[in-house]
Amino acid sequence: MPVLLVAGCDTSPRQHPAPSQSDAIAPRAEERQCLAALGERHAGFTPLPDRYFSPGCSALGTVRLFSLEGDRGEIEVSNLAQVGCPVANPFANWVRFGVDRAARQILGSRLARVETMGSYACRTIAGTDRLSAHATASAIDVSGFILADGRRITVMGSWYAGTDAERDFLHMIHQSACKRFGTVLGPDYNLAHRNHLHVELSAAAFCR
Ligand SMILES: [Zn+2]
Repeated sequence: MPVLLVAGCDTSPRQHPAPSQSDAIAPRAEERQCLAALGERHAGFTPLPDRYFSPGCSALGTVRLFSLEGDRGEIEVSNLAQVGCPVANPFANWVRFGVDRAARQILGSRLARVETMGSYACRTIAGTDRLSAHATASAIDVSGFILADGRRITVMGSWYAGTDAERDFLHMIHQSACKRFGTVLGPDYNLAHRNHLHVELSAAAFCR
């Protein structure tokens, strides 16, 4: 039942107590591999200690991610203060090979910055009592893009109402995200996603 695996966004954050642990312990082997892979992609990031919040909400193997490598220079990333390394790697590939190249091809300028609404958040899927993939920092909400020529293209402003080129760009990167992430949700999915693309590590093959 793929639909059961679909996460969502934009629900009220759960109140949660202060973290019960914040240990700067040595990362596990798979985490070291993941961090090494992110380093090989020349990402700018800082590994963060594991943190456990309320039941079901944890941030394990996470990083603060602030830049990625593009073909023509560094691409800044905003607002990813705590994101899971396993989702950060396909995100880095998507931004470089999906988004930056689409920006140059369709909009004629390279990508300078990706604007996000973050990753980790202890919250449920909209309209349900099930925890979102954000509760384990396994999803990223991407809200906009700033090009090197200064243009800013947002999901909210351009998915439906942008120029032909802006809409082509957003729909192309949505499709390319679906090749790299198990779950991708955008404005066509529901109103909760009108202002961002939700990209999530999952086995769901759910692309809306
Ligand atoms: Zn989301």
